[in-house]
Amino acid sequence: MSTFKAVVIDKNEAGQSVDIRAFDEADLMDGDVTVRVSHSTLNYKDGLALTGKAPVVRRFPMIPGVDLVGTVETSSHPDFKPGDAVVLNGWGLGETHLGAYAEKVRVRGEWLIPLPQGLTPLQAMAVGTAGYTAMLCLMALERHGLGPDRGPAIVTGAVGGVGSVAVALLAKAGWHVIVSTGRPEEADYLKSLGAAEILDRSELSAPGRPLAKERWAAGIDTVGSTTLANLLSMTKYGGAIAACGLAGGMDLPATVAPFILRNVALLGVDSVMARKALRIEAWNRIADELDHDKLAAMTTTIPLDQVLEAGRKIVEGRIKGRVVVEIAR
Ligand code: NDP
Repeated sequence: MSTFKAVVIDKNEAGQSVDIRAFDEADLMDGDVTVRVSHSTLNYKDGLALTGKAPVVRRFPMIPGVDLVGTVETSSHPDFKPGDAVVLNGWGLGETHLGAYAEKVRVRGEWLIPLPQGLTPLQAMAVGTAGYTAMLCLMALERHGLGPDRGPAIVTGAVGGVGSVAVALLAKAGWHVIVSTGRPEEADYLKSLGAAEILDRSELSAPGRPLAKERWAAGIDTVGSTTLANLLSMTKYGGAIAACGLAGGMDLPATVAPFILRNVALLGVDSVMARKALRIEAWNRIADELDHDKLAAMTTTIPLDQVLEAGRKIVEGRIKGRVVVEIAR
């Protein structure tokens, strides 16, 4: 029997349990590429899976971890051969398909993209699903015709993973970046990433008017709920908010007023099932545009055996920036 180390979530009558143990390679799921994982990351969804706080895990046992970088070991897929460095985000990894907190994964080759040139494996996972989603949000705003000439952009949940990368990317693209955070003590951190103005998140979390003073032309929202409703009500005529998260709640207590009176758009962004061409474009742009020093400043690295504790922290909103999980030490 050949085994590898993995975080494994199980479920029985007593509830959900998580431990780190040897996993039998014969129990890996179907796929045409086997990858030796070098790094994964901690995303909000991983925290939900590890803590069981929301039902993101759809089969048991499950190995969590929604993203990875690694090296192909075996492949019967025409696009990949042993030794290739690859990246995987989403596609149900860590939810319906055995995931990345493991020394090995077996996946479908169509889910993989080559590690973008200009990024090391560690840097690619410092970006991770959070950073790639931030880029998808920026691309959605640009596709809508928005640019820095139209006014400021707002980022909510700014100290978090998606938020931190979004701030750096928007600032690099020339936007005047307003951030909203519940951690005012991180003002210097946010400014170092490119934030020009800092709002306390309580300014946006209480129910507001259907239309309020116009403050920004664009936004990247990771929080949802009343915060997103307020963002929309304060968006300038013709502007748009890219919504990708629910850290503050899944509801959306909004009115149609911003849409029908200010021509405001709400752009939904999903990273999990995004088509391959969009992924490759997003990753190539990240490799070109994301400042490596800023990326390093927002990143901490932990070994696999600290991921359970880190998972608890992220659902409590206590993680700053990005956390890389080192699998191959
Ligand atoms: P993080 O935990 O790193 O960031 C979330 C941030 O939201 C926190 O750091 C905090 O920022 C803020 N926050 C937390 N709780 C609350 C609250 N109750 N009210 C208001 N703000 C709050 O998570 P990620 O960056 O990894 O993910 C952010 C969101 O984006 C999650 O909901 C996640 O599920 C979603 N996501 C969606 C993807 C998609 O494909 N659509 C892909 C990746 C992530 P601060 O301290 O600055 O206030």
